[in-house]
Amino acid sequence: MAILSFLSRASRIYKGYPKLLVLCTLGLSSGGLVAYSESQLDTRAPHVGPNEKEPEKKRKKRVVVLGTGWAGTSLLKDLDASLYDIQVVSPRNYFAFTPLLPSVTCGTVEARSIVEPIRNIVKKRKGEVKIWEAECVKIDAANNKILCRSNIENNLVGNREFFLEYDYLVIGVGAQVNTFNTPGVKENCHFLKEVEDAQKIRRSVIDCFEAAILPGLSEEERRTNLHFIIVGGGPTGVEFAAELHDFLDEDLVKLYPAVKDLVRITVIQSGDHILNTFDERISSFAEKKFRRDGIEVQTGCRVLSVSDKDITMKVKSKEEVCTIPHGLVVWSTGIGTRPVVRDFMEQVGQAKRRVLETNEWLRVKGCENVYAIGDCATIDQRKVMEDILIIFEAADKDNSGTLTVEEFKDVVDDILIRYPQVDHYLKSQQNLKDVTDLLKDPQGNDWQEVNVEQFKLALSHVDSQMKSLPATAQVAAQQGAYLSRCLNHRIQCEENPEGPRRFRGSGRHQFRPFQYKHFGQFAPLGGEQAAAELPGDWVSIGHSTQWLWYSVYASKQVSWRTRMLVVSDWTRRFIFGRDSSRI
Ligand code: FAD
Ligand code: MG
Repeated sequence: MAILSFLSRASRIYKGYPKLLVLCTLGLSSGGLVAYSESQLDTRAPHVGPNEKEPEKKRKKRVVVLGTGWAGTSLLKDLDASLYDIQVVSPRNYFAFTPLLPSVTCGTVEARSIVEPIRNIVKKRKGEVKIWEAECVKIDAANNKILCRSNIENNLVGNREFFLEYDYLVIGVGAQVNTFNTPGVKENCHFLKEVEDAQKIRRSVIDCFEAAILPGLSEEERRTNLHFIIVGGGPTGVEFAAELHDFLDEDLVKLYPAVKDLVRITVIQSGDHILNTFDERISSFAEKKFRRDGIEVQTGCRVLSVSDKDITMKVKSKEEVCTIPHGLVVWSTGIGTRPVVRDFMEQVGQAKRRVLETNEWLRVKGCENVYAIGDCATIDQRKVMEDILIIFEAADKDNSGTLTVEEFKDVVDDILIRYPQVDHYLKSQQNLKDVTDLLKDPQGNDWQEVNVEQFKLALSHVDSQMKSLPATAQVAAQQGAYLSRCLNHRIQCEENPEGPRRFRGSGRHQFRPFQYKHFGQFAPLGGEQAAAELPGDWVSIGHSTQWLWYSVYASKQVSWRTRMLVVSDWTRRFIFGRDSSRI
């Protein structure tokens, strides 16, 4: 009876799940539980369509923003709510300052100090922004609508699914962890992507210590419980290893003196060096520092599987397979595409691609009104060599079949804006002071006029400087800010385009393409030391860099509230140490 009444109540609440109920009923009656999670469009879910009371002409275009991470939040900070009907869908009703997540794993800063409710952020804007705490489970690109599902698990009445129509859709859902289908990783590893992950790691680290000091364990068992393995020697893995080492060194050794000598931290990296996206000087400094600190770095190792007790890996140089016991494994090896984005890619003809591709204006290829920003997408930068003939034709004003330096100078600004790799190439070549230096023969003499073959030769290397942008907060935030500016100036720029000339077609592009400015990157290495790679090949390592890190990360906080909280957490840690309570 109880089950029946539960099912009838559930069927009223979860109208979209008839199949789930049927299967649960069958499963329960046969003594098992069948899990079933097919996401499909339920046309009975309520629709949030345009405001019918507003006349069509006056109706504001609706911008639906998916995600409240770095990309989504930076867009929302500036998007003009008086111009658009802005609706936000995110399963997380807050913004999280991810660069400080590793500090949360050891209690250097508290979880609540690095999050800000998204409603606090948007309330400062003029006009209303609607926020729905739900996950977008399906994008219906053909009908300009999305299906959303609330993840609120409590026993609340009402519908958990709804449709939302859009005029413009901005996808900023980020990425998910990538396990590379390695057996056992999902079940037995910790990840470090969300605030909850960091909190879970913090509790598990303490658990490892508490378990290791229980009576009746052999020394080997205590050692196993205290073996912390980090898979992935990128910035996140390295920072976590450094944080963990500091936590042990500064706090836990005093609290668990009996087992302090049994602790081991191992970083497993598939490449030859840790921090291999950083300058070589930083990478080798980090390796030396870790060696001094007793953090083991195993490079050239590929993890084959992870069980609840040990991790199996292949050492590439020796072609050997070895198994080592662990107490805790943190998997930090890279990111993959979320299922909702993958499904959308299939709809827009990008099924074969690895990542969702946009053009240089961040518009999804194959869609007129969908943009994608942040970790969930990549920009497909057009190559100069693909357009070389039309550039030549456009530049050759007098149709002479040759280009003079004057003719080239006329189009050069547009080339530099449309193809940013040209500028990167010029900066990377010491012998090229000016863009017209490209038009020199191999001996360095000026060509008075160049024909199409010589022009091709002159620009043949510029595409070598094309790099896809890294999946970082810096890129995501700049893309969000860029897109909000474009949307805010959409009407003005339709009449007065501000972009470069169209080499294919006529007129100008409505906007300048997105251009990323790199402000450098940090790698905190523990013991109050950090490394920084700053623009212009500048590398800074040591204690002063750690202070630079403190000031940059304090200044980058999204609100004064979180800034105060983070700074006071750092101060508290200096005075009292970290809190090791397992709560
Ligand atoms: P995210 O910030 O991940 O946000 C995605 C948003 O989408 C979230 O709000 C999520 O809830 C929401 N979402 C997910 N699925 C759905 C769905 N189906 N429907 C609707 N919404 C959805 N970068 C740096 O530049 N510097 C650093 O120091 C740095 N340190 C890092 C440390 C750690 C531990 C981690 C994990 C990352 C770090 N990064 C750093 C990378 C940076 O955090 C990411 O590049 C950045 O978060 C990407 O922003 P995003 O908005 O694309 O995605
Ligand atoms: Mg000419």
